[in-house]
Amino acid sequence: MSSSKTGIEWTDKTWNPTTGCSRVSPGCRYCYAEALTKRFPKSFPQGFNLTLHPDRLEQPKKWRSPSRVFVNSMSDLFHQDVPLEYLRKVFAVMRETPWHIYQILTKRDQNLARLAPQLEWGDNIWAGVSVESQQYTSRIDTLRQVPAKIRFLSCEPLLGELTLNLEGIDWVIVGGESGHHHRPISPKWVREIYYQTREAEAAFFFKQWGGYHSKTGGRVFDGQIWDEMPSAWYEHVHRWEKRKIVSRRQKTGTPERKYSASVS
Ligand code: SF4
Repeated sequence: MSSSKTGIEWTDKTWNPTTGCSRVSPGCRYCYAEALTKRFPKSFPQGFNLTLHPDRLEQPKKWRSPSRVFVNSMSDLFHQDVPLEYLRKVFAVMRETPWHIYQILTKRDQNLARLAPQLEWGDNIWAGVSVESQQYTSRIDTLRQVPAKIRFLSCEPLLGELTLNLEGIDWVIVGGESGHHHRPISPKWVREIYYQTREAEAAFFFKQWGGYHSKTGGRVFDGQIWDEMPSAWYEHVHRWEKRKIVSRRQKTGTPERKYSASVS
């Protein structure tokens, strides 16, 4: 199962240069990646063990339209079993495909901060940490040390009230848990995070209330859908759309080159 299609609302595609993981905190209890792995054993012959997939490294180069790409929806890129050399290869592909925005989300904030100085970051590489409960807000302090252009939080599954220091944080995603054993989310917790994002001028994205299925509770909060993105995303799209137009105008009988790393 290496399809890039996704139903995750805050991204366009998923890219899994590794699969498999191991649990680190309460947010992992009903990990959907682990559940999917068990459901489709033929697609995951290594089970949920951390597995490198070097054959997938070049995938994003084939995607021609600028996209938001969630890196490792089925794993955690900063898992301790991912070698630094492999991480460098993943980062090289991200830099070589500047028409995409890469969204790296981890629960391993310490590994992220330790390895970040040894990696070459590009403006199109965003970094985020999961914060499911107050106990894990220290991940945000660690994230602030990372030289990513955009830093974001995923408060999903939201398991309690959060008081957040959003200094240097551009984007906050909030969502409830889904599945047979989903732990319920309180509208009060969501509202409090929403107010904190307004105060800090951070974008707010409400993914779902959760329930038995991910779509069960819908996505409406306070009478509307909240799909805010950092302004860097809109600037990115605008910049690459303009290049597409210029590329079309420059067309001289040869097939149109839409997006290319060599476009400067
Ligand atoms: S870190 Fe993410 S992928 Fe890994 S077990 Fe936890 S929820 Fe699953």
